Amino acid sequence: MSDSVPIPFARPWITDGDRQAVLEVLNGHILTHGPQCKSFEQEFTEFLGGGHCVSVSSCMAALHLAYLHFGIGPGDEVIVPAQTHAATVHAVEWVGATPVFVDCDSRTGNLTASAISLALTPRTKAISVVHFAGIACDMPPIVDLAQRHGLRIIEDCAIALGARHQGRHVALFGDAGCFSFYPVKHMTTGEGGMFVTRHEAVASAVARLRAFGVDRTHSERTVPGMYDVPSLGLNYRMSEIQAALGRSQLRRMPDVLTQRASLFNQYRTLLGDLPQVRLIDTDAPESRSSHYCVSAVFEGEYAGRRNDVVTKLNASGIGTSIYYPQPVPRMTYYRNKYGFLPGAYPQATRISDQSVALPLGMHMTEKDVNRVVAMLKQSLAEADSGKGPGR
Ligand SMILES: *Cc1c(COP(=O)(O)O)cnc(C)c1O
Repeated sequence: MSDSVPIPFARPWITDGDRQAVLEVLNGHILTHGPQCKSFEQEFTEFLGGGHCVSVSSCMAALHLAYLHFGIGPGDEVIVPAQTHAATVHAVEWVGATPVFVDCDSRTGNLTASAISLALTPRTKAISVVHFAGIACDMPPIVDLAQRHGLRIIEDCAIALGARHQGRHVALFGDAGCFSFYPVKHMTTGEGGMFVTRHEAVASAVARLRAFGVDRTHSERTVPGMYDVPSLGLNYRMSEIQAALGRSQLRRMPDVLTQRASLFNQYRTLLGDLPQVRLIDTDAPESRSSHYCVSAVFEGEYAGRRNDVVTKLNASGIGTSIYYPQPVPRMTYYRNKYGFLPGAYPQATRISDQSVALPLGMHMTEKDVNRVVAMLKQSLAEADSGKGPGR
């Protein structure tokens, strides 16, 4: 098996069209502050079906800008999922606010309005939701809760490009939505991100904040080089090179979503007869997942088998990952700062300790999925019959 062609967990999909788009920017003279970012922002709005977009250097930058813009800081609490990427919580830490971790739903890995409501205090200022593995959170009750308590909603959409709830794209429910174009995400610009908001005034303020706080863009300057700085800012801009790549990638998103959905459905069918392996999934008819990855949770007598299965899959050339490897409150920085009680956040802990993310993406065929599933079943069967890892 080890001499089969490797199947990486993920691989960026770069075409000749992408290379051409990047080359055209390099052959020109404008590497930043140019038309590519503007067009990318417009085309992203069209793809989402609404919102105002501000291109930025990463999803983490977009999240940081959101908290800075909404004035969330020391003394404020922000609800965050325990089951997420560290970036979701780091953004809260950087503005000096306090993250309040909430456990996720076991089936979808997402926060629910009822779990959030139990964690609210008079100091709560915002709710950060993460649409886990491409499954949109059930947003209407969360929006309702936020409105009743006067809270901001920051959506971390890093792994949810293409995900919709009741036909509306994620990022268009809350006050801000943040996307990532890191290489293994749905589409890439190398590094990069998009800040999205339904409010034009928020978008223009965040656009200034991302560019040193200057009061006018290059095209708005009547005297070249002349500008003022009325407020503090950062440099979180995206370059023209990245934006050109992003525009080219974005055009292929419909194909990406179709292929991911079809491979995911194949996994779901093939793994359906394994009673102790459960996929992070949804059957809510109003939810359209963007199928970021296939997160398989081992339960019952398979609960302790994850690392063994990962070793065997990797040894046979099949790449895997773990989304996410630790509940954030258990990561050393957060554990040292806020403490971590054993048994806290049981659902997030189960996903971190008992799941494997199987490969899914444009680099894969139906045959590859068959091979991954066969190997997964074989590793579990070997462990069942006491053959061990065979080393
Ligand atoms: C990848 C990821 C991020 C970070 O994205 P960057 O663009 O690398 O900053 C944030 N949140 C979630 C949920 C992610 O998966």
